[in-house]
Amino acid sequence: MSRWLVEVQAGPYRVRGISLGGVYTCLQIPELGVVLDAGIPIRAFAATDHLFLSHGHGDHVGALPALLGIRGLLHAKGPPKVYLPEPIVDTLQAALRPLSELQRYDLAIDAVPMRAGDEVRLRSDLHARAFRTHHPVPSLGYLFFDRVQKLRDELRSLPGPEIAARKRAGEDLFHVEERLLLAYATDTLLRVIETAPEITRAKVLVLECTFLDDRKTLEASRAGCHVHLDELMEVAHTLQNEHVVLMHFSQIYTPREVHAILEERLRPILGERLRATSTPPRAILSRSKMPHISSVRGRAIRSTGPHESHHVRFSATC
Ligand SMILES: [Zn+2]
Ligand SMILES: [Zn+2]
Repeated sequence: MSRWLVEVQAGPYRVRGISLGGVYTCLQIPELGVVLDAGIPIRAFAATDHLFLSHGHGDHVGALPALLGIRGLLHAKGPPKVYLPEPIVDTLQAALRPLSELQRYDLAIDAVPMRAGDEVRLRSDLHARAFRTHHPVPSLGYLFFDRVQKLRDELRSLPGPEIAARKRAGEDLFHVEERLLLAYATDTLLRVIETAPEITRAKVLVLECTFLDDRKTLEASRAGCHVHLDELMEVAHTLQNEHVVLMHFSQIYTPREVHAILEERLRPILGERLRATSTPPRAILSRSKMPHISSVRGRAIRSTGPHESHHVRFSATC
């Protein structure tokens, strides 16, 4: 079986890693210096200092101890900052204690409890804000943004000397504007785009789309608190994102099927804005003259295996 990690280019950002619904999700955005979830321990991500956990399911946090162990081997400076839903902080810390004993190494994290609406500053030009997602356990999505000073609208038509004079007079000429860079929403009902509509205006939207056709009904998908392509197609035209990166596909689809289904069903709506983190089949990538395939632009890096969504086994409220 071909085993790969994937990298897709979404505007200025690379979305790297692997995401298979129910088995593992771990993505890195190198330009933002963040890792999203820790469902599989990827060595190249272990030194990243900012890790954002969406929720406590095993396919998103199960590899955290291994990732921390690798971090130790890399002699990274101190524990990583781990941003996670506030209700699961104590449980996760408690789970890491016996694992530290087994490891004879302190699998320490610098936990940052988050609730919907909470903001953190990652660096001078980068902030993150948590937003609510809809899953049967405490869960969050994250919106990364920066703040820029912009000349107030009513002043834009004034000549330069006039603006300079007003500035000398001490007038407040600017307002602060948020630039929404990238939003990450996984393991959620599609309702998230209504409850956190700002994510549809981010430059890049990384969104789960676990189920893609009638092998899983829309009702069953919603019962498991996941997104189905049928419903995404209905609202895709309302997304203002410059790039939409889909991930967390169920293992009931082969990578080849994921690409074929998305090309057929969603490409006509999203056009060049569509990206997918599914493993690109080598045979398809090599036929790059096929325009509908080459535009997927997945680039294989290396390694990993199959997936299944366990969440649908539970009946729950999202
Ligand atoms: Zn998941
Ligand atoms: Zn989940």
